[in-house]
Amino acid sequence: MKLYMQVMIALGLGLKRNWHIFAGLLLGIFAGVWLHTNQNPVIMNALTFIGQLFIRLIQMVVIPLVISAIVIGITSIGDSKQLGKLGTKMICYYAIITTVAVALGAGLALLLKPGAEAVAYINSDVATGIQAQVAATIEAQKGNLLNIILGFVPKNPLEAVASGEMVPIIVFAVFFSVALARVGEINRPFVSFFESIFAATMKITDWIMCFAAPGVFALTAVAVSAFGPDIFIAISKYLGVLALGFGIQLFVVYPIFLRIFSKVPVWMLYAAIAEAMMVAFGTASSSATLPLTIACCEKRGISHKITSFVIPLGATLNMDGTALLQVVAVIFLAQAYGIALSPLLIVQVALLAIIASSTSAGIPGAGLITIALVLNGLGLSPEQLVAGFAFLFTIERITDMMRTLVNVTSDAVVAAAIADNENEIDYDLLTNPKEYNEVID
Ligand code: ASP
Repeated sequence: MKLYMQVMIALGLGLKRNWHIFAGLLLGIFAGVWLHTNQNPVIMNALTFIGQLFIRLIQMVVIPLVISAIVIGITSIGDSKQLGKLGTKMICYYAIITTVAVALGAGLALLLKPGAEAVAYINSDVATGIQAQVAATIEAQKGNLLNIILGFVPKNPLEAVASGEMVPIIVFAVFFSVALARVGEINRPFVSFFESIFAATMKITDWIMCFAAPGVFALTAVAVSAFGPDIFIAISKYLGVLALGFGIQLFVVYPIFLRIFSKVPVWMLYAAIAEAMMVAFGTASSSATLPLTIACCEKRGISHKITSFVIPLGATLNMDGTALLQVVAVIFLAQAYGIALSPLLIVQVALLAIIASSTSAGIPGAGLITIALVLNGLGLSPEQLVAGFAFLFTIERITDMMRTLVNVTSDAVVAAAIADNENEIDYDLLTNPKEYNEVID
């Protein structure tokens, strides 16, 4: 079948099932533009309330879901050799995708030079209000890499659960589940307990998704209302390079990746996860989208064994969209301030972005905090660092929405590829001939 037909069908299927969320998203953009010119605190407060309510509802199920998914996933793989094989493959796939993302970001930014002549805009006083906060963030991140890695291991797992720190929770859940898998049959009551928790959290996710359209509408409207058309014009080149990078990642890199490593039809996969992609855009949080990413993949035929292991880890560690943004942003600032970018410096930026992105939590804004790690070695003066960083803050939300969509999509892409390799995918369900016929009609 011709490529454009496949794309149309996928779009048709994805939108048909989720047209209400898509409508929420589009209306949210319009409402945001309107609100920018017609400041209305009552409407803004109402929208902020609805958006926050939606995010909190999904966040409410994330921790029980992640722990139970990992326990079930790892114990169902059971044998430690197979687990090692799957784990290694997962890390390799995620590493490939993130490396391509940073190479792409660096290539585009060097070629299209979004930072040239941007210095006047960065230095204007748009962001003076947040400069003190920014300076503190940069300071806190200095030399912080080892501490960040130390923080991955929880001193007290219950404390990590209580404060909602995803990486330590996952580290503990993985250790615990491998141990459970090792102890054999005696683990049954415990695993059944987590199976019940998982089933219940999935049910709650279904209920919450009835609220997705107004939730996404409100979140998008609030985010868009913060920007006027003026800001878009002033930094359109920067945003354009980012959008191009994200677009290439979504529409060229992932399809090629899936073609090389699996036989998963990429457009069908996108149709399957369209709901998760839109919610990722609305919430700007991979963690909050996690229940939905798992639900979409499982409903469309990717086995629980794979999704429950690969997606929670991906939602916390695999941040290729974030890595791409970090590279583009850092090169943008270097260009704006006239810093010579030697090949060595570019490689350093790319490597640091891979590390910094994967230490970012799957929550809004996390990638902009860890970018300080990448910026520190660039040779910007302290004033330039603060002004540049503050500038990035002003346009943070909109770029966060885009990169989170990419982060979430790549989790599903890697899960689908691994499921294909392991014969853990039901192609009849994924390609769903019934719906497919309807669209062609
Ligand atoms: N918001 C992103 C995510 O949840 C992380 C980031 O800030 O880049 O995937």
